[in-house]
Amino acid sequence: MERTLSIIKPDGVAKNIIGEVIKRFESAGIKIAAMKMIHLTKSQAQGFYAVHKERPFFDSLTDFMTSGPIVVMVLEGENVIAENRKIMGATNFKEAEEGTIRREYATDIEKNVVHGSDAPETAAFEISYFFNHLEIQSR
Ligand code: ATP
Ligand code: MG
Repeated sequence: MERTLSIIKPDGVAKNIIGEVIKRFESAGIKIAAMKMIHLTKSQAQGFYAVHKERPFFDSLTDFMTSGPIVVMVLEGENVIAENRKIMGATNFKEAEEGTIRREYATDIEKNVVHGSDAPETAAFEISYFFNHLEIQSR
């Protein structure tokens, strides 16, 4: 079964919509295989977003990701990488489809409520960044 990493970003946690986000995954038949709440340090956020280190928004993004606690989850299901990205909507909430998480709750291209891995290789890296194999329950 395919796996992906999902993050409810600091803005999502602050908006009190952890349950709302999780409900959308579960309603779509996606299973949560691991979950925890953490508060990243700047260097942990920089390590997670290392692929974006040359982008102009890197410093602002890593500041934002350390601005409060986040919920990290491993999601499991058929085609879950693409399914999760469909449920999240486009990175820019103004371009996100009606009914997606970002369309309904994002306020900014940066503060867009959720993260989801974009490919099997990034999913493997991102899952291992937060969880070891004993912390992931296939079910
Ligand atoms: P994520 O990786 O968070 O799931 P994504 O794959 O849709 O989102 P990326 O292009 O990987 O988007 O960008 C990572 C994150 O960086 C975005 O989710 C957003 O928070 C932030 N970001 C992306 N583009 C911009 C931008 N132009 N200005 C500010 N922040 C941005
Ligand atoms: Mg991305």
